Amino acid sequence: MTREPVIEAVVPSLDDPDRELRPQRLNDVVGQRDVLERLHIAVDAALKRNDVLGHVLFDGPPGLGKTTLATCIPREMNVAIQYTTGAAITAPKDLVPYLTNAEERSVLFIDEIHRLPSAVEEYLYTAMEDFRIDIVHGDGTNARTINLWLKPFTLIGATTRAGMLSAPLRDRFHVRETLEFYSDEELTQIVRRSASKLQSPIDEASAVLIAQRSRGTPRVANNRLRWVRDFATSRANGAIDLGLTEAALAMAGIDCLGLGRQERKYMETLIRVFQGGPAGLEAIAHTMNASPDTLEDEVEPYLLRSGLVVRSPRGRMVTSNGFQHMQIPPPAQANPGQSHLFD
Ligand code: ADP
Repeated sequence: MTREPVIEAVVPSLDDPDRELRPQRLNDVVGQRDVLERLHIAVDAALKRNDVLGHVLFDGPPGLGKTTLATCIPREMNVAIQYTTGAAITAPKDLVPYLTNAEERSVLFIDEIHRLPSAVEEYLYTAMEDFRIDIVHGDGTNARTINLWLKPFTLIGATTRAGMLSAPLRDRFHVRETLEFYSDEELTQIVRRSASKLQSPIDEASAVLIAQRSRGTPRVANNRLRWVRDFATSRANGAIDLGLTEAALAMAGIDCLGLGRQERKYMETLIRVFQGGPAGLEAIAHTMNASPDTLEDEVEPYLLRSGLVVRSPRGRMVTSNGFQHMQIPPPAQANPGQSHLFD
């Protein structure tokens, strides 16, 4: 018997700005070819065997499609999904309702799974491996432990920091996939599709430019597109052309590599306050009045990937490409022990 999946529970409803543009099925997902191919095989095999899909872990910087893939999988399997996030689960008891409510073969999606406290991680071990949990009833000397069998379910975890998961938890995921940044061509395709979903006419040159200025990240591409669309609606008749796109991106402070205000502020702080580094993340974050986690998760991955900054044991350092891009000359090498990286 096929059951209508409870997909609606998956995304925090009204406050999910990505919802209207999020691909619904694996076939609508652009890029990540190898990852998709492996997911298709895992899903297909589980369906053919009439079996539960093994637990899946997605890892990678924000906005690359972890939630999207996690929400497409239950649709492919035609099963229900429950959604929570690591920050909301502070003790094993917070997790119990999700585990006991999980229907056979349904998906439990835990976003930011690295934020689970270690007691909760440990509680998940038997739930994931044997579909069994212990529930403690009562307090003190009256406490009784009840062993409860769960229905076989699939845990899908998403994280920007796979390294922060304990090894036993990581090892309990059968499928582990790291999402990579997207090529300009893939992002162009996403911009075209999103523009069509938003019913915004856009020419090819504008789609390409928005893609090139989106730091390899679909969420950034969609946000840039929304901004350009607003600009085109306010300043013209809503149709997006190259002149409007260039003007809109310039007005938003987005440079030719797609760095926005936050990334440029990070580069400027590292260059002007720390002479290009090496500087520790905490020191940079304090100076910028930002959180170290935000910098590490959202700002640094693309700067590192594009070779504008490197991480060394002594801290973050701007590369010669980084100085060049910011059009600031590197400081004279006062101390030969503190040479900058010239590549
Ligand atoms: P993450 O969970 O990794 O932070 P999301 O899955 O929320 O990222 O993706 C952010 C938005 O980017 C989605 O709403 C979707 O519109 C878009 N997106 C992400 N990956 C893709 C993709 N591979 N193809 C098309 N759109 C994508």
